[in-house]
Formats: sequence, structure tokens, C-alpha cells
Amino acid sequence: MLENALYIVPTPIGNLLDITKRAIEVLQQVDVIAAEDTRHSKILLDNLGITPKKLIACHDHNEEQKAQLFANILQEGKAIALISDAGTPLISDPGFKVVRYLSNCNYKVIALPGPCAAITALSVSALATDSFHFMGFLPVKEQELNKTLQTLINKDCVSIFYESPRRILTTVKAIAAIMPQRELVICRELTKTFESVYRYNAADMYEFLQADEMRQKGEFVLIVDKAPNKEQVLDDKIILSLKLLQEKMSLKDACKIVSTIFDINKNILYKEALALKDNFN
Ligand code: SAM
Repeated sequence: MLENALYIVPTPIGNLLDITKRAIEVLQQVDVIAAEDTRHSKILLDNLGITPKKLIACHDHNEEQKAQLFANILQEGKAIALISDAGTPLISDPGFKVVRYLSNCNYKVIALPGPCAAITALSVSALATDSFHFMGFLPVKEQELNKTLQTLINKDCVSIFYESPRRILTTVKAIAAIMPQRELVICRELTKTFESVYRYNAADMYEFLQADEMRQKGEFVLIVDKAPNKEQVLDDKIILSLKLLQEKMSLKDACKIVSTIFDINKNILYKEALALKDNFN
């Protein structure tokens, strides 16, 4: 027996087996299923053998209006399931306004755990998982894109983005221009037939994607590693580069060049290099 609540129900991001028993049970029993795209969700529901009692469209353009309707339905003691086209609703998908409104009206909202492309990608990325920043889709306009990417230069946690096949190459090119050495992980077509995980520094990733158009097709999660930490700053290659450059120029100028080549924070590098200055001579 379901509670009188709005249930947030994650659905598969590719592999139809990735739906929990609890999600199926909720979808079978609710009075109303609110779906981002009813035609799209009908295919999933048919596949699961579920005939919804009532299927209502709830998307970016009608969410506010639907929130009021859902409040009325909950007022009657019923249960509603909210689903999106794929993965977890509200995660770069509609649902926020509905959840906010119903929560503010003190209706019960229950979230089921389940598929989410960002979390699936993070867990396979082999990058640090202790702290991460999910940033949804990057801005499309060049100036805003670069502004957002600049914020990653010194970021102390990994950043996770969603990206489309139309923009993946442009985005990686822009990252490579700012942080050529930064490690990137691209998870393509997760849980699907052509699932792939690519791991390269930004400059190499651009070359790799450009070399084969097939690598630019499908759905993508892009993960940008955090900025190199202090201990990593002065590795052997960097010390050698500083030493050679310092024979021709000031330490400050040498740091400027090395920080650009190795994609490290200039000020941190200079501070570290000053401490080691005697070793360079
Ligand atoms: N709510 C979804 C979730 O929980 O992951 C995300 C919805 S968002 C509109 C769709 C984006 O998620 C795609 O453009 C892609 O960037 C990413 N995505 C979804 N499914 C994916 C998959 N199977 N493999 C890689 N990325 C995926």
C-alpha cells in the first residue's frame, strides 16, 4: 500500500534492466504517473507491463501549473510518481518546481534511489570521489563557456558535466585550450551497447575524439579532474623545466611559462619554486 505522497522514481539511462523492484511496484500502484514526455515513458511502461491509471505530462514548460494540480491530487489522499525521460528526475531534468511547491505545502515527497548518469560516470571514472561538483550542462555561448571553464583551473574537486554529441568536441577543445594537461574522463553511452570510458589529458582527448567521428556520437558525461594539489606541483619534469628556463630568465617568468605548459596555478608554483630556488643553481 503506497503512502499519500509524491514519489520521485528514477528510470533506466539505457539498459532497461536497471530499474528497481521498488520503482516497478510504485509505478504499478500510484494513481497518477507524471512524466516528462508521456509518449517516451509509455514505451518504458509498456515494456514493464504497466498500464498507468493516469498519465500526465509534466515538463519544463508546465511545471508550475502542474504543481498546483498535483497538490489537489495529493489533497485527495492519492499517490503520484514523477518520472523523467531517463535517470533521476530533477537531475538536469524537470521536477524541481513541483518538489519545491509540494514540500512547501507540506505534502510528503519520497525519493527512490536509482540510475543517474553523473553518479554512474563518477563511480567508473577512477578520479577522486570524495568531493565533486555536478554542474549539469555547460553554457553554449563561447564567452560564458570559457568563463565557467576558468573556474575549474584551481578547483579542488572533480567537476561533472552532461554534454551532447553536437557539442562534445567544441567543449573538449575549449578545455584543452585552457588546461591542456588536465585529466578528463568521458563516459559515453553508459549501460548501452557502445558504452565506453575514455581517459586522457584534455589535449590528447581532443585529438582522440577528432580522430574518429564515432567517438563523438551518443550521450556523454564529462568529468574534469581537480586541480593538481600542492604535493603534485613540483614533480621532476617541472623542476627540470624551471631549472633550464631559469638559466635564461627570472624565476617569476620561468614560473609563468611552466604554469601555462603544465596547467598549474602560477602563484602556487612560484611559492613552491622560491622555497626550492637554491636547488636550481
Ligand atoms: N536525469 C538524468 C540523469 O539522472 O542522469 C539526466 C538527464 S539530462 C537531460 C540527459 C543527459 O544526461 C545527456 O545529454 C547526457 O549528457 C547524460 N546521459 C544520460 N544518459 C546517459 C548515458 N547512458 N550515458 C552517458 N550520458 C548519459
